[in-house]
Amino acid sequence: MKDCLFCRIEKKEIPSRTVFEDDRSIAFEDISPQAPVHILIIPRKHIPSMAEISTDDIPLLGHLLSTASRIARERNLAVEGYRLAINTGPAAGQAVHHLHVHLLGGRQMQWPPG
Ligand code: 5GP
Ligand code: ZN
Repeated sequence: MKDCLFCRIEKKEIPSRTVFEDDRSIAFEDISPQAPVHILIIPRKHIPSMAEISTDDIPLLGHLLSTASRIARERNLAVEGYRLAINTGPAAGQAVHHLHVHLLGGRQMQWPPG
């Protein structure tokens, strides 16, 4: 999508610190990290949010979560733990309207989140 920030990152029109990519997904460092590890995992396909997924997207969503899990393991976060978050819509403060999974780790997380 032309005016979507993460589509532009996906196409490398905007630089990012990419940590992983394959045919369906790309993962890169968040520009404003909220934890020692803060990586965003996005689908190459433009999906605005979890509110707009279709049943066709189920394998892709599984792929994104599995990618997040593997990156967390590679960063040695599997034992101490980490958080995956998908902000969806205004109440969750979603700022970029291209589906993304936040991988946060390297510090103690609080619950409930703000
Ligand atoms: P949201 O609030 O939509 O769940 O999260 C959007 C995330 O994208 C935020 O954590 C924000 O720091 C990150 N972000 C916004 N603009 C950029 C950018 O240009 N590059 C990167 N790498 N991250 C960005
Ligand atoms: Zn997009």
